[in-house]
Amino acid sequence: MMKTDILVIGAGPAGLSAASYAARAGYDVIAIDQLSPGGQLMLIDEIENYPGLALTNGYKLAEDMERQATSFGAKIEFMALKSLEKKAEGHFIAITDGDEIEAKAVIIATGADHRHLGAKGEEENQGKGVSYCATCDGPFFKGKDIVVVGGGDTALTDAMYLAKIAKSVTIVHRRNEFRAQKALQEKLKTLDNINLALSHNVVEILSDGTHVTGAKLENGEILSCDAVFIFVGIVPNSTLFENIVETDNGGFIITNGSMETSLKGVFAAGDVRNTPFRQVATATADGAIAAHSADEYISSLS
Ligand code: NAP
Repeated sequence: MMKTDILVIGAGPAGLSAASYAARAGYDVIAIDQLSPGGQLMLIDEIENYPGLALTNGYKLAEDMERQATSFGAKIEFMALKSLEKKAEGHFIAITDGDEIEAKAVIIATGADHRHLGAKGEEENQGKGVSYCATCDGPFFKGKDIVVVGGGDTALTDAMYLAKIAKSVTIVHRRNEFRAQKALQEKLKTLDNINLALSHNVVEILSDGTHVTGAKLENGEILSCDAVFIFVGIVPNSTLFENIVETDNGGFIITNGSMETSLKGVFAAGDVRNTPFRQVATATADGAIAAHSADEYISSLS
């Protein structure tokens, strides 16, 4: 059994920020993650809107955040959570695939994962040209034709990244206007190898058995391509907590402005919570607030 003051579940930007703030405030902190620290940062090529850093990449920022958290004394453990239980006020038990961890307060920062489109051929063509990660798989399609599905910030940011590698990128979006920030929409217009197929849905992803060959639209039109990158939003990693804290219809954990969940002593930060804006900057801010609230909670116990 490991013991700590504050257990942080998830070591993406929200979790690492929470761990830094809590450790710097003098608490024993354990942050656990089933993957290497960094969360979705590890998948972002260029970040140009994290305050104070003109241009950086996600991997570098993740490394710096991890280094900062551990320099303040936070421990980062490679473990997957199995269950979390509140035994009493200030007494939580987390069962993981490694050790059991006893903590006085818990910060959930488990983030979110890619939503799947649900198109025919999507699941069986993963690894054959269907992808959810531009920086991971984009370089495999140098000089090729790519279809991107989605109309949010991720779709536009990653379409622009892919356009630097590919011969052409066609963005298929179900509405006739993008949800993405206006700045990204303006930047998109400066790239001449990006085509738009607005008010369309991809209903099937076609392949020859080993490689993707096209994307079929609902009107029967086939866009010939070598890869289909799907960026249609995210689903929160909150399943393990649904029985202990309140979530909204989408499964995002409901918090107040202090990052308090419906269960006293449990806080949530970053993409897993019901926040209106999911950015690295908002995740790190959430983490700082959650650490401060956990500090207040623990102080109130004595
Ligand atoms: P998002 O904002 O939820 O956008 C998802 C997009 O996919 C929407 O355009 C949506 O269409 C479309 N979509 C959803 N389900 C679909 C379906 N079944 N079929 C077809 N299209 C579907 O998700 P995101 O772009 O991944 O962004 C997630 C969060 O990360 C956001 O808060 C975003 O601001 C943030 N982010 C920020 C940056 C940045 O600042 N550079 C970069 C990446 C992500 P509708 O528009 O019609 O609903």
